[in-house]
Amino acid sequence: MTHHVAIIGAGLAGASSARALSRAGARATVFEKSGGTGGRLSTRRTDHGSFDHGAQYLTAHSVGFGETLGELTRAGAAGEWAPAGKDRETAWHVGVPGMSGLVKPLLHGIEVRPRCRIRAIRVERDGVRLIAEGGPVGVFDRVIVTAPAPQALDLVGELDPGFGAISEAVMAPCWAAMFAYRKRIGALPDMVRGDDASPLGWMARNGSKPGRYGAETVVVHAGAAWSADHLAEEADAVRGLLTTAMAERFGDDAGDPEFGVAHRWRYARVDRPAGLPFFSGCDGLVLACGDWCLGGRAEAAFDSGQAAAQRLIEELA
Ligand SMILES: Cc1cc2nc3c(=O)[nH]c(=O)nc-3n(C[C@H](O)[C@H](O)[C@H](O)COP(=O)(O)OP(=O)(O)OC[C@H]3O[C@@H](n4cnc5c(N)ncnc54)[C@H](O)[C@@H]3O)c2cc1C
Repeated sequence: MTHHVAIIGAGLAGASSARALSRAGARATVFEKSGGTGGRLSTRRTDHGSFDHGAQYLTAHSVGFGETLGELTRAGAAGEWAPAGKDRETAWHVGVPGMSGLVKPLLHGIEVRPRCRIRAIRVERDGVRLIAEGGPVGVFDRVIVTAPAPQALDLVGELDPGFGAISEAVMAPCWAAMFAYRKRIGALPDMVRGDDASPLGWMARNGSKPGRYGAETVVVHAGAAWSADHLAEEADAVRGLLTTAMAERFGDDAGDPEFGVAHRWRYARVDRPAGLPFFSGCDGLVLACGDWCLGGRAEAAFDSGQAAAQRLIEELA
């Protein structure tokens, strides 16, 4: 009998586990609250160009993630980014044509149900029932939750005391801003890294990444401490502050974008991982995984998704 596994979240952890399960012969259905896939590997498309406003580039240390990035590169869904001023030795990979392009091929052939926010999980005699905003969406043999740690805890915390340790993971916010300019701004480098207290904790010219064309688009990530200090502010106010920071650093033209918008990532990065590859509760019927299990980078999300899927593959074989 084919086992049916529900996966909550279509980010890298969800895609990684869905693909592994599907390849092992299980049926995987992915529920995603937003309209697209990729999670924090995200690309915002606007009339003024596209922006990678979440993760900027991916690095691989493990063999498995390295092989997957190689596969995605050969398929044209990823490329290497070598910006002027690159300050780390490891190869930097980005999705093509945008960051979310990395996740799409991993979900090829897998049922994804977008705009479906799961509100509750109930363990019942015949399986695990998922309830979305509009009502029940099905009963599954197993469920894997891949939401950021605080949201995962909301969903599974009451189901099993063992899930309480998810609260060991500490996640931090990040304010991002997206700017588009009418013309190339000569003073703008491909990338700049600042300190945690700076409004310009990171700045990148989106167009310097492979496979991006068109307008001069820039993504700014405020530093960790700056983002935390300004967390409660309105997006418009933060856009203004980050526009001013661009002008102060790179000149008046950089402070005069044709388009600008700020985005608050409430759970952007992992300050402290929970320290396990994944969590399992309710006699193994419900699992939780994501970057917050192992570390703050996309590779941790991928590895955690693989580990959770592997547990189910071994158990359901
Ligand atoms: C600003 C920023 C910069 C970053 N920079 C880098 C970088 O340069 N390099 C790097 O390696 N990493 C970076 N990261 C971290 C990287 O993006 C993450 O580690 C990785 O994408 C996490 O993947 P995930 O699948 O664990 O979680 P997510 O990508 O968050 O996926 C979880 C998914 O679950 C969905 N979801 C949540 N709750 C529900 C629900 N109840 N029902 C249905 N769906 C739900 C969400 O919508 C989301 O799509 C950055 C992140 C941010 C935000």
